[in-house]
Amino acid sequence: MRFDLITIFPDFFSSVFEYGILKRARATGLVEIATHDLRTFTHDRHRTVDDRPFGGGEGMVLKLQPIYDAVSLLKITQKGERDPQRETVILLSAQGQPFTQAIAQELSAVERVILICGRYEGVDERVSELLCDRELSIGDYVLSGGELGAAVIVDAIARLLPGALGHPDSSRFESFGAHEIEEEEADGPPRTTHGAGGILDYPHYTRPAEFQGTVVPEVLQSGDHSAIRLWRRKMALRKTLENRPDLLKTAALNDQDRRLLREIERERQTSSKEIL
Ligand code: SAH
Repeated sequence: MRFDLITIFPDFFSSVFEYGILKRARATGLVEIATHDLRTFTHDRHRTVDDRPFGGGEGMVLKLQPIYDAVSLLKITQKGERDPQRETVILLSAQGQPFTQAIAQELSAVERVILICGRYEGVDERVSELLCDRELSIGDYVLSGGELGAAVIVDAIARLLPGALGHPDSSRFESFGAHEIEEEEADGPPRTTHGAGGILDYPHYTRPAEFQGTVVPEVLQSGDHSAIRLWRRKMALRKTLENRPDLLKTAALNDQDRRLLREIERERQTSSKEIL
């Protein structure tokens, strides 16, 4: 899979993809990442990439022409004739669609992704109109540039590519995992992660079993696989209820999950009464 990043700060990316999974994926040729300096596509002495906004107002706007030329040089099929499931151009924008794990999954099947990083007040709207298949936002806040967003998107996609993670199941059972609950072998050891069904992952612990008075839940040391599995699912549901209750509306929950949620609610009511 190939990523092309169009930016006025190409050096920004010189180290972000040099660690861990991304580094390995690049070394093995699973992922190729190229950065393109927008200023090399300008034609004036000052290498101007921005200009004042039509209609007035604060700040500067990234010009259309250098971005248009940069994308043209990358020889991607023109918008309209392009199949975005094979090759796609994306604009980073605070006004974009929220980037999610489901979109990361969808984009991991694409062969080629071009990411355009905005700066200043943003990018001439015609960039989106003429060149892009979609606009993506990495969250409800305003960043000073699209570079961090592009790095986030490349990372989230690349780790989903077959062969990028040590164990192929690792990405199936994480937070926001596939919206289906897959049955594990009942007698096998519980898998390392289990946020399946579109909820959050459960809490993880490693040695020592006790540190400064905090102890690892006993069940995890019991060796009882089915008790561990049940506890993990309950904790995943509890975390989701506490931190992201919105996810429960679309999560794939079974009868056991619903029973566990009722149990969690009861426990929460009891503990809040105890506080009062
Ligand atoms: N005036 C714009 C913000 C521009 S910030 C607004 O109010 O929406 C400058 C650039 O940073 C944007 O063009 C975009 O590329 C990037 N950016 C800012 N916030 C972002 C976000 N949440 N997700 C992705 N890119 C973002």
